[in-house]
Amino acid sequence: MEIINFPHPTLRHPSKPVVRVDAELREIVAEMFDLMYKAKGIGLAANQVNLPLQLFVINLAAEKGKGEEMVFINPVVSSPKGSAEANEGCLSLAGVEAMVSRPDQIHVSAYDLAGNQIEQTFKGFLARVIQHEYDHIKGVMFIDRVSESEKRLIEGEIEEFELEFEAARAAGSIGSDEDINKYIREIEDRYCN
Ligand code: ZN
Repeated sequence: MEIINFPHPTLRHPSKPVVRVDAELREIVAEMFDLMYKAKGIGLAANQVNLPLQLFVINLAAEKGKGEEMVFINPVVSSPKGSAEANEGCLSLAGVEAMVSRPDQIHVSAYDLAGNQIEQTFKGFLARVIQHEYDHIKGVMFIDRVSESEKRLIEGEIEEFELEFEAARAAGSIGSDEDINKYIREIEDRYCN
């Protein structure tokens, strides 16, 4: 398992709900936390590790054994309230940061790793991180939500990621769109049906 970078197509694929919370899914979640901590991140969505599933993990402490590990499976975000602006970054666009405006409060329905349903309202920074990850599983990235003037500031960095992606594809380490679509269907057959 490894983190994939923008503009990998799996990051743009709307993920499907998973149908089972089982040992295999718990193993995936454990590996995602490990990868997230290695990258010093606070949130990671499954499609950032090339798994097109409605699942993301969060730990605001960014460190194993500290903070609270939160797992959101098949989440639905609703009832947005208020608005706040803050700087965001992303493990799939490491080093790129920009201001993003989002609702300050949301309600989340989801399942946890035990298969229990979560119904909770979140505010402030945690609400922001949840919305960032929820965007991921819908195929949306934070750079889609920045203003035109902010976007101009990060254009060069984004272009570097695009060039790196094309180089990796030319070198054969990333497959064609057709290969990736076939792989996505295989993962969906395995976890979503
Ligand atoms: Zn992200």
